[in-house]
Amino acid sequence: MNVYDSEMFGRVLRPMGYVPAETFEDADLVIVNTCSVRKKAEEKAFSFIGRLNKLKRKNPELVVAVGGCVAQQEGAALVSRFPWVDIVFGTRAVGRLPELLRRFEELKTRVVDVTMDTGLIEALPDHDHDRTPDVSRFVTIMRGCDNFCSYCIVPHVRGRETSRTPENIIREIEKLVANGAREVTLLGQNVNSYGLKEKICSFPDLLRKVAQIDGLFRIRFATSHPKDLSDDLIRAYGELDKLCDHIHLPVQSGSDRILSLMNRRYTREVYISRIERLRQVRPDISVSSDMIVGFPGETDEDFKMTLDLVDTVKFDGLFAFKYSDRPPAPAVGFSDKVPDLVKSQRLEALLALEKTYSRKNNDRYIGRVEQVLVEGLSKKNVKEDEIQYSGRTSSNKVVNFMGTGAESYKGKVGKIVQVSIEKAFPHSLWGKER
Ligand code: SAH
Ligand code: SF4
Repeated sequence: MNVYDSEMFGRVLRPMGYVPAETFEDADLVIVNTCSVRKKAEEKAFSFIGRLNKLKRKNPELVVAVGGCVAQQEGAALVSRFPWVDIVFGTRAVGRLPELLRRFEELKTRVVDVTMDTGLIEALPDHDHDRTPDVSRFVTIMRGCDNFCSYCIVPHVRGRETSRTPENIIREIEKLVANGAREVTLLGQNVNSYGLKEKICSFPDLLRKVAQIDGLFRIRFATSHPKDLSDDLIRAYGELDKLCDHIHLPVQSGSDRILSLMNRRYTREVYISRIERLRQVRPDISVSSDMIVGFPGETDEDFKMTLDLVDTVKFDGLFAFKYSDRPPAPAVGFSDKVPDLVKSQRLEALLALEKTYSRKNNDRYIGRVEQVLVEGLSKKNVKEDEIQYSGRTSSNKVVNFMGTGAESYKGKVGKIVQVSIEKAFPHSLWGKER
C-alpha cells in the first residue's frame, strides 16, 4: 500500500516536470512517505526526517515534503520539530500536492495541509503516464477505515472509508493490462467492505467485473476483515478462476477475550469456520494473517489460545507484531500492559511455531506441477546459458525456476508457465519449467 502511495506522489508530480532522481544529492525535492501504524515505523520516519537536515544544509534550495500517516497526525507540529521541512501534506491531500508545491515556491512559507475530505476518492491520476512494464500491479479501490479496532491508529489518520467507483477501477486496470500487467492486487484497509456504504457495487461484484477484463490472468486483494468475509465472497472464490488461491485474513489473536477487547467483532470459532468454508470451495487456498502479541491484558492463557489457533489453521505466512501504544487509539488507556520482555518471548514462540507450518505447507508442493506467472529474472543467475526466472503460484508462493526453450527473456515474462517443483524452502520454491 505504501509503495502504491509513493508511486502516486510521482504520478501526481510528473505533469509538473518532476522525474525521479538517481541520488539524494541530485534531488530538488525529497518526499518522505510515512507510516505510523506501529511505533517502530513512526520512529523510523522521525529519524529519517531528522537526517534530512544535513542534506538541506548542503543544498538550501532543496524542498523537503512529508506525507502519509505521521504527517496527518502531526501536522504543523512536524515543522516546529524539524524546521527544515517545507511542506506537510496529509493522507487525503495527495491530489493537492502540485498546488501545495506552487504555494511554497511563490510564498516561500511553510505549507501544511492535513484536511480530511469525505465522499468518493478524489480523481487521482491513474497509470496513464506510467510506463512501468511490471506484470503485477497494485490498484487502490478504497481508502480509510471505519472499524476502529481498539489498538489501531488507521481510522484516525486515514479517515473514514471511501470507495472508488467500479468504472474508475476497471478503466485503470484496463490501462495497466494494455501496458503489460497480467495480475492486479486490489488494495484497501478493508477491501471486503468495498462499496457497502456508497451502495455502488459490492466487493464480490467488483471482483466479477474485474474478472471479465481480457488479458488479465490473476486477481488478488488485500486486506480483508474476517467479519466482512461474506458468503458471496466465498461464492466468488468458487466462480472465478482468475481469483487467486490465497487470502490474507488478519486474525490478530486466538483468544475471544482479547478479540473482544480489540473490538474485532468476530470470535475464533467464526474465524475458523470461515477458513473451513473457503477451503471447501478452494481446497488448496493458502492463508496468511497478521497477529498482535502482548495486547494489554493478554495472559499466558490468552497467548496459548493464539498458538492453538496457529495449530488449527496452519497458516502459510504470518506477520506478527508486538503491541505498541498508538495514541489516540483507545487501547492506550487499557490497564495491564504486558512487559516488553514478555512480548518479545511471545513473538519468538509464535514465529517459531508458524515457521514449522510454513515449511510443511511449502513441502507439500514438491513433486507438483504448478502454474507460475513469470515476473522476471531470479536474483540468482549463475550460469549464462541457463536462465533462472522468478514468478509466483496462484497461492502466492515465490518460485525460482530454470527456464526452457529458446524464447527470449522478455518473451517469457508475463506468461503463465508450468513448473515442476523440486525443492521447498521456508519462503520460496524451486523448480524446472516443463
Ligand atoms: N487493515 C488491515 C491492517 C492494518 S495495519 C487489517 O485490518 O487487518 C497492519 C497490521 O498492523 C494490523 O493487522 C495489525 O496486526 C498491526 N497493528 C496495527 N496496530 C498495531 C499496534 N498498535 N501495535 C502492534 N501492531 C499493530
Ligand atoms: Fe486498523 Fe482494524 Fe481498520 Fe485494520 S480494520 S485498519 S486494524 S482499525
